[in-house]
Amino acid sequence: MKLFAIFGNPVSHSRSPLMHNSVFKALGYKGTYTRIKLEDGSKLKKTFLNLKLSGVNVTVPHKEAAFNACDEIRGFANKVGVVNTIINENGKLIGYNTDADGFIYSIKEFKGIKTVLVLGAGGTAKALSTKLREEGLDVSIVNRSEGRLKEYQDDGFTTFTHKTIPNKAFDLILNTTSAGLSDENYPAPLNLLEPLIEKSTYCADAIYGKVTPFLQLCNKYNKPNKDGADMLLGQGVLASMLFTQNAYKSETIEDKMKESFLF
Ligand code: NDP
Repeated sequence: MKLFAIFGNPVSHSRSPLMHNSVFKALGYKGTYTRIKLEDGSKLKKTFLNLKLSGVNVTVPHKEAAFNACDEIRGFANKVGVVNTIINENGKLIGYNTDADGFIYSIKEFKGIKTVLVLGAGGTAKALSTKLREEGLDVSIVNRSEGRLKEYQDDGFTTFTHKTIPNKAFDLILNTTSAGLSDENYPAPLNLLEPLIEKSTYCADAIYGKVTPFLQLCNKYNKPNKDGADMLLGQGVLASMLFTQNAYKSETIEDKMKESFLF
């Protein structure tokens, strides 16, 4: 029996155990998936190896620590320095990023997007903004604190702090902050956020399983919006393919994983 887990803090809200266990059970894969609250990201590798894990997903706030903990990084994770999936390959930790493709999958019904305002500058913002730019979109970043914006500026993104947010229209506003995850905070001051949402076409939140204050505001202005559930599904399917070493087709995993969303 192989053991998998999600590392995060907080982690009690995570649907990943349900999603992955549903797939393992439905497909007869000999694996089980649990959740582990990891307070100190620098202990990630030690915890992973001590527990003899075969693979993990990593969530807030450890995705950058996960990148540093890996022995080898493959694919898109190399471009962004952010890892959300780790596989144990003969005692070596191999890091991947499945969030970005998961997110692109999740917004396929939003048509004609050219400009995006990403709220937040953490690990998820980095992966999604880089992927969105690769898809040809014009991406701007706004963050509460200035320090984290430096690497985005160096990478050629337009960046704003709350003090410099422009009052202009974006096709998509995407909340990647953890504001609203386990509190009722807005990702930016209400007097700045409200006019931005009013002018936008679509809104999306990476947080799932609740209507965050950000999404409540989007609903107030009748903006088509979605939470992070489809992104979760998209990244989960890709992670499951890695966990099961591509033994199953993505469509098969997706069907089984979707069933877990009905619980
Ligand atoms: P990080 O800890 O790396 O980054 C958090 C970001 O949120 C930072 O930019 C931080 O700003 C900002 N922030 C936190 N609190 C507030 C606040 N009260 N007001 C304004 N900004 C705030 O987290 P991640 O990027 O890993 O994750 C972010 C969110 O995305 C989480 O809620 C996570 O659950 C969700 N997520 C969902 C996924 C899905 O599949 N649906 C996948 C991945 C993530 P500062 O720099 O100023 O501290």
